[in-house]
Amino acid sequence: MSGPDAFPIPASRIGLPSFAPYYPEVIARLPLDSPLWEKLSACYSRENAIARLREVMETRELGAAWKSLLGEIQHQGTVYGVTSAAIPHLVDLAPHLPAESRLELWTEIGFLVTAGADRFPAPPAEGLQEGLTAALGTAEVLALRDFLAGTDSSPDDDSYFALTCVALAGHPVGRAIWKFPSQSSGYMQTDCPGCGAEAEVDGFADPVALPCPVPHFGPAQSVPGPWRDVADALERTRRDQVLGPGWGRFIDTARWVALAGVPAHASRSVGWCLVAAMVALRSAASAPWARTLARLTGYMRCLDCGSVWAIADSMDDRAEARPVDAADTRLPDGYVQDALFAADEDGNAGDRVPDGVWPETVADAVGGFRPVPAGRWTTRGCQPGCCGASAKARRARWRRSLARTRRPSRYAGGPRLRCCGTGLPGPRQGGG
Ligand SMILES: [Zn+2]
Repeated sequence: MSGPDAFPIPASRIGLPSFAPYYPEVIARLPLDSPLWEKLSACYSRENAIARLREVMETRELGAAWKSLLGEIQHQGTVYGVTSAAIPHLVDLAPHLPAESRLELWTEIGFLVTAGADRFPAPPAEGLQEGLTAALGTAEVLALRDFLAGTDSSPDDDSYFALTCVALAGHPVGRAIWKFPSQSSGYMQTDCPGCGAEAEVDGFADPVALPCPVPHFGPAQSVPGPWRDVADALERTRRDQVLGPGWGRFIDTARWVALAGVPAHASRSVGWCLVAAMVALRSAASAPWARTLARLTGYMRCLDCGSVWAIADSMDDRAEARPVDAADTRLPDGYVQDALFAADEDGNAGDRVPDGVWPETVADAVGGFRPVPAGRWTTRGCQPGCCGASAKARRARWRRSLARTRRPSRYAGGPRLRCCGTGLPGPRQGGG
């Protein structure tokens, strides 16, 4: 096959009408016996990569050959020519694998794609890039179907899988799969998009209640496609209060962005909203991890330069990120939770609650992620079975706990939303 500049051959040269250019050969994927594999790079050995790929395709299992193949097609975040050429074959393989192996395959493809394997550096034949793009479209449909079908997976696996689906949709938040926290870490690594300072932010734990204002998205135009089913599932999650009371507007944002087909222009904070809500779809056991991930839709302050950024932007190399003003825009007597939950209870209160990056919700390397302020507690007594503390006493207790968490320490599991010394969870927000 000759170079790309030979195509298309002018129709007149081969006797066709002039409006019909003729493409002599367009291949969607490289056959496993094609000599063109020789033009592609691999990590250690191209021959080994191709042999292991053949073995995986023949045995239809993710065993030793698969592990060896992974070593050839991805090394410490670098991908190669054989990686892009292998992906269409791996997508073909997926329907022949058991559910558990499919989860592994999709997640690995998520890593490959976000490392840049969705584009050939230099495709060795015409049509290969188009074939790869089409295969990734198929992967998006199949992976979402598997995601919604659910399997017996851990919450960590669920978040990797959700990020893979979002990456296959082309949203940049998928790249966070490379610097992703696990449930056990308890902290987040951030890089200030302004000055580049690195920080570890403690207290990455289940906030129980909504930890920060919900990022804005939509309502947007609904587009057909596989994400419609995700939106429907999220609607059920909202109705069943899977994340607890008061999370409706958060799930609404996730639902809107799914209905819109996860457009690449939606902010990274909105992308995290979707990923967190998707994790909640997998199982009830995933809800605490889903609420923890919701913290990534909030903001962090860089203690080196003092500027405030979306946490989602601090997790990705992002030249176009802009700092925000942390300013209190609540009513003079409003508590953070009153403002956060007012939006949800009124259903459409996005226009009632002004935009604001409230200082109480901004994380930093000293205070960590903020515990959730408990404004709603001020209007009601303790829940039945709790201590019955007055509103004033509870507020004072809250302020003491906030002061404690401002110490620079890596506290285990982070602060909890606790009403009193009994260890009972705090009262339900927004409930009657
Ligand atoms: Zn900075």
